Amino acid sequence: MQTMLYDKVVEKYSKIENTAGRLKIIDILAELIAMTPPDDLKPLVYLTTGRLAPSYTGLELGVAEKTVLKILSSMSSAETVAKMMKKHGDAGEVAEQVVGRRITLVSEPLTLNRVYSTLLKIAGQTGANSVKVKGGLISGLLSDATSDEAKYLVRSILGELRLGVADYTVLEALTKVYGSSRESLERAYNLTSDLGLVAELAAAGPKAVDSVTIEVGRPIRPMLAERLESADAVIGKIGESASEYKLDGERVQIHKDGDVIKIFSRSLERIEHYPDAEALARENIKAASAIVEAECVAVDNDGKYLPFQELMHRRRKYNIKEAAAKYPVTLNFFDVLLVNGAVVMTKPYFERREILEYIITASRGTMLMPQLITDDPAEVEGFMLKSLAAGGEGLMIKQLGAAYTPGARGFGWIKLKREYNTSQVDSMDLVVLGGFHGKGKRAGTFGAYLLGAIDLEKNQYIGVTKIGTGFTDQDLEETPKLLHPVQSKPNDVESGMTPDVWVEPTVVMEVVASEITLSPTYTAAFNIIRQNTGLALRFPRFMRIRQDKTAQDATTVNEIIEMYKLQTKKMSK
Ligand code: AMP
Repeated sequence: MQTMLYDKVVEKYSKIENTAGRLKIIDILAELIAMTPPDDLKPLVYLTTGRLAPSYTGLELGVAEKTVLKILSSMSSAETVAKMMKKHGDAGEVAEQVVGRRITLVSEPLTLNRVYSTLLKIAGQTGANSVKVKGGLISGLLSDATSDEAKYLVRSILGELRLGVADYTVLEALTKVYGSSRESLERAYNLTSDLGLVAELAAAGPKAVDSVTIEVGRPIRPMLAERLESADAVIGKIGESASEYKLDGERVQIHKDGDVIKIFSRSLERIEHYPDAEALARENIKAASAIVEAECVAVDNDGKYLPFQELMHRRRKYNIKEAAAKYPVTLNFFDVLLVNGAVVMTKPYFERREILEYIITASRGTMLMPQLITDDPAEVEGFMLKSLAAGGEGLMIKQLGAAYTPGARGFGWIKLKREYNTSQVDSMDLVVLGGFHGKGKRAGTFGAYLLGAIDLEKNQYIGVTKIGTGFTDQDLEETPKLLHPVQSKPNDVESGMTPDVWVEPTVVMEVVASEITLSPTYTAAFNIIRQNTGLALRFPRFMRIRQDKTAQDATTVNEIIEMYKLQTKKMSK
């Protein structure tokens, strides 16, 4: 059997780390993939993207930095390690130096397979003795590692690899190596949410890629909506359609397999903080197996919908039962993708809605999303008011004949929100790229942040605004704790504005702004609307941290371009 040496992997990691251009990174990644035997592809893809398994499994190593530093101390001295750590701030570099100084006589070269299976073993340790066992396994790997290997090994173990290789970058590299088109690989990824599996399918050939489909237990990347500015525009675009309330809760994808219920968040993580919703789903979905989507919304004693903030009391790891009693939720179903083993995702909306009506039993906590089918904009407006009065934030208007399109934003669903009638642009979900030191009352913490949108073509986060308004004292205190500062601008970030401190682009903030403006400083959509000019936000205001979204779910540069166009249309009315 061919074996992939870990040494070969880290050689490419080091190259990637020292390369700035995205296309060059894809080339290096393609070389790495091409030299990896099929059996090693899954481990390679997971490790390279900073995971152990598909994100939805939630599998983590759970190793603390101090455990690793202790092991390194035993290979050198606690004093030396502490000194190096102070200098580099990166346990990976400390490991590189410690291992580099060590004199070993014989060591067995590490294989990718051994590294990966040992990491899985580490993740699987629980119970009283686990810290010790984990330590032993890590020492075992380090004692056979070269200095370069030790660096990346430690970073992987601590979840700090940060090569800046996004999932889409891997898809592009796979296209280069195996020939399946980017579209078909993206489709496979949207359906399975498992990049390792997609790599294996790609290696097996286009037929394997095209025949993959959805399965209970594996979350599907959610369908997304476009926006339009008015009911007239929506009916003008898609004609007779189904308006549904747009409720402001947490989107959940519910997988039912007999009595087993798994709930996934919008960012495809398994969530277990809604035991009441699980019970509701178990009782009220009448199908042996199903994948359905609902908006999970907190309600008050009279059953009135409560705003999203109230639901945040439920996002916790402890005392889940008490929180469930205090802030009960309802499930408002709006789609079905699979039922009793049959994939229905590709059926038109109106048929899926009929199936949904058939399989969902209405109860105190379960209902279908209120819906109105009409081709009359005035009726849509009336329904919008009803949604707002009920505590909704607007409407989701759905094309009757449209299939469910995983991971894609399109006019199959169009959102119409209240803000469109005021001077504000729609809220955006932007990624925190950096922080600016605060002054006066904000001294010692960040007083403002640099935020960016995601550019899916470039696979980069592009700075679009600096924000310092809308934060409560608590927000100012809590936000820095979520961020991971880095020493220089990450590979996958671009910005015309430089913050005092760059951070890993992972935290998403929802913001509103008065306007999208042309800007000579910011580079989003550079040269697209006007030469030498990008788009930026004017008077941005912080709304909340979106813990339910990952950076990959952020507002895209293309959406900002569309919103800019909508705004100019509105102003010229
Ligand atoms: P946005 O996050 O503003 O792009 O809006 C899309 C989100 O609206 C979805 O992810 C759902 O969480 C939420 N939503 C609320 N009501 C509906 C509905 N009737 N159909 C689809 N999505 C809905």
